[in-house]
Amino acid sequence: MTPDELRALPKAELHLHLESAIGADTTRELADASGLPLPPSGPFPDQAAFVVAYERARDLVRTTADVRRVARELVERQARDGVVWSEVHVAPATYAGRLGPPDGILEAFLDGADGRAGVVLGINRGLPVAEAEATVDLALRWAGRGVVAVGLAGAEAAFPPGPFAPPLRRAAAAGLAVVPHCGEGTGADGVRAALALDPVRLCHAVGAEQDPRLVEQLRERAVCLDMAPSSNVALGIVPDLAAHPLPTLLRAGVEVTLSTDIPGFLGHGLVDELESCSRAWSLTDDEIALLARTSLRRSLGPAA
Ligand SMILES: [Zn+2]
Repeated sequence: MTPDELRALPKAELHLHLESAIGADTTRELADASGLPLPPSGPFPDQAAFVVAYERARDLVRTTADVRRVARELVERQARDGVVWSEVHVAPATYAGRLGPPDGILEAFLDGADGRAGVVLGINRGLPVAEAEATVDLALRWAGRGVVAVGLAGAEAAFPPGPFAPPLRRAAAAGLAVVPHCGEGTGADGVRAALALDPVRLCHAVGAEQDPRLVEQLRERAVCLDMAPSSNVALGIVPDLAAHPLPTLLRAGVEVTLSTDIPGFLGHGLVDELESCSRAWSLTDDEIALLARTSLRRSLGPAA
């Protein structure tokens, strides 16, 4: 498909993060206005270097007006790429009160997104479990009003998912989807650990393809993988696009979608991602259409 055809294809993007999705011009403006340094751009020597860059980007968001602006610009950019719905990871707890109450952060995001994006409310593994419980309380207050799921992100090897199972179970019991990150450097073991959380989708899950039994489980339980190949390359999880497992999993019948995860750091959007991935893996038009269809079908918003 040509870039125009890729753009015309209706699709959803189910895995990206608020602070990793600030446009280049806005990043510069926010840095100028605050006197703070520009976040370093990828590729990153390791995940720790990315965390530093990510925190720099988060520092640039200083008011709820900034949140509203980033959300508005994000959905406008997505619309130009034919992305009709986005699911954005937002982790108010990581602002530690700097932007006021967490409800205000959500309100600003949803106002800016104007019905074109839902929130995956992020639990940060590096914060205490009590903070995760507070995040679930927040998610429950906003369920049905823009928060569609609860996520889990942060240093996976240092903080395995087990302790977060009780708050995530509480979110699931109230009807919220659970969509944890996993397999970003922890391989099949990390994916297996995340599968015990009863997710509807998994972010990344790189390494699942190494274990045929796990691939079978993902297929049987219809767990969708929201993979982000260029992000994995930028963070050194896989050496290059050619080595990424997405096409193998797709062709094995696992439900997968394509996302950018960190478009602000990659300097590209979903159509660019589709273009470079379809080139690297020689995707057929049918496979590209399947990725787009799956993204709409497995989304948790009105696009489904
Ligand atoms: Zn992510």
